[in-house]
Amino acid sequence: MKTKKNFTFEYSFKLNYLRIIVYVIFYFFTSFLLKKLATEDEPIPVIHMLIESSVLRGIITQLQMLVSLLLVLKANRQGYVAALVMNIYSILVSSIFLIQSPASLPGIIAYIEIIIIISTVRDYKKETAAYINEIEKNRNSLEQSEKRLHYMAFYDPLTELPNRALFMNRLEQSIYLAKRNSTLIGVIFIDLDAFKSVNDTMGHAEGDNLLKELARRLSACLRKEDTFSRFGGDEFLLQVVNLHKIQEVNTVVQKIMKSFDKPFIIQNVEFFVSASVGVSVFPVDGEDAQVLVKNADIAMYSAKNSGKNRFVYCSTELKNDVIKQMKLTNKLYRALDCNELFLYFQPQVKTATCEIVGFEALLRWNNSEYGLISPTVFIPLAEKTGLIKPIGLWVIKTVCEECKKCRNNNGKNYRISINMSLEQLKDINIVNEISTILKDTTTNTRNIQIEITESIAFNEEPFVLKRLLELKNLGVSIAIDDFGTGFSSLSRLKLFPIDLLKIDMEFVRGISTGSSKDKAIIKGTIQLAKNLGIEVLAEGVETHEQFMFLKEAECDEIQGNYFHKPLLADEVRLLLD
Ligand code: C2E
Ligand code: MG
Ligand code: MG
Repeated sequence: MKTKKNFTFEYSFKLNYLRIIVYVIFYFFTSFLLKKLATEDEPIPVIHMLIESSVLRGIITQLQMLVSLLLVLKANRQGYVAALVMNIYSILVSSIFLIQSPASLPGIIAYIEIIIIISTVRDYKKETAAYINEIEKNRNSLEQSEKRLHYMAFYDPLTELPNRALFMNRLEQSIYLAKRNSTLIGVIFIDLDAFKSVNDTMGHAEGDNLLKELARRLSACLRKEDTFSRFGGDEFLLQVVNLHKIQEVNTVVQKIMKSFDKPFIIQNVEFFVSASVGVSVFPVDGEDAQVLVKNADIAMYSAKNSGKNRFVYCSTELKNDVIKQMKLTNKLYRALDCNELFLYFQPQVKTATCEIVGFEALLRWNNSEYGLISPTVFIPLAEKTGLIKPIGLWVIKTVCEECKKCRNNNGKNYRISINMSLEQLKDINIVNEISTILKDTTTNTRNIQIEITESIAFNEEPFVLKRLLELKNLGVSIAIDDFGTGFSSLSRLKLFPIDLLKIDMEFVRGISTGSSKDKAIIKGTIQLAKNLGIEVLAEGVETHEQFMFLKEAECDEIQGNYFHKPLLADEVRLLLD
């Protein structure tokens, strides 16, 4: 099929030749006329009556000049060649006549002049064309750069999806339309679970391929008017517009969750990846783009915290929770200065004799507005904000001071366990700081035990083992807390400098519910620890039945409300007296 461009080209090509033919015919006709005027002895009757022959020859020569010029101006290269040939012809013919009469001399000069003029015009035309060409090229490259800049500013280069800026822009437009049409918009926040492990095991290039494949899969769940974007890393956002019922959002969410059922094939290996998804809906969860995205994010975090691989809708409770957490975080910054932190000490007893051998220091926060706050609530906040460092040091210092007081009163040495977070272990100064506190308070290092949870202890990061060895070198002992709840690794159990394993209360509870599996795990753990030369303590012992089972299983130590609840320092002193 002929395109419009081809057609115009053909048309102008034909017109060009037609023009040349017409001008050439005209030129040769006038040349013939000139020859006639110059050679006929008898003047041409009618013309001679109107005008003198020499004047007419002058006019004709000028017309020929005009035709030559028009040919160069209007008929491109071929026109120039035709004009040149015609004028050279005229010079030759006039030169022949010059032998007979000098009257043809002005004509020859005129033809030479016209050759100079048309050549100059042609050169000028060439220069102008080159100049226009250059401008056109620059304009094209500017257009290209503008397009590229626009793409870079609004698209993700890896997945070719819209980026955050474009998503927010479109969401604002969608909100404007939804307000006018009274429709709903679903904002869906998708975050992959454990995407880091794909990158770590398969490499970043394969991780990128997975993201591209995911972008293709999820795009298939959407309609044309919806926007799917990558916010960065493994975070994707989706806006589903023009909805009339919340159920319609749900249909899309279900489709998205289903798209993770099929494995991703990376280097011929099947990879199952799941996602945590948070949903907010306009106008219920917010009336502007920023708020809607923030609330979808809050819902996504809730999905992550409640076990991953699920979706959660934003709700008033969720939003209130976040607000409360923000308020608590602000208050936590002042907790130390306001003396709102204090410690409980929970006794740990020897199973065989029931005598107290040590205590676990348990942190509490008594806030003026919120009252007594559990460490399970504020420790994660302290970890997130970095406040765990000063708070952790305060705990260690307070424990050492209490240890000193106890020794002065009672003369006996008790082991005191201090819980430590991963964030504290990351600090390269922590061991030096603990060492200074121990020296300043003249604490016997053998009385201090550092407790870290199993998930921290068996964390793959090399600094964990390094830090534990440094602590061990100080002379303190190491306990593994909540044993059995994380990913235990027997080889790391062998490698780590562990003195005590604390069996989690989840298994101890199983003794009362008659769970034969929990009982078997407890017995197995005690046996394993004994074979490795590690002591075992059972946490959260609440009943006589649990105590008797643990005694029979030869668990070394016991901690729990059955013997002693966590006590204040003064209560501990009374108890020991
Ligand atoms: P954890 O280290 O496993 O502490 C044992 C938890 O079990 C304590 O909860 C204790 O009060 C509770 N418990 C002890 N016996 C019983 C019992 O018979 N029945 C029941 N139901 N519970 C019992 P608590 O004090 O709320 O501490 C919770 C967690 O907070 C601790 O778990 C520990 O991981 C963390 N934590 C406490 N103090 C600190 C601290 O100073 N620093 C750090 N990083 N974490 C701390
Ligand atoms: Mg503990
Ligand atoms: Mg524990």
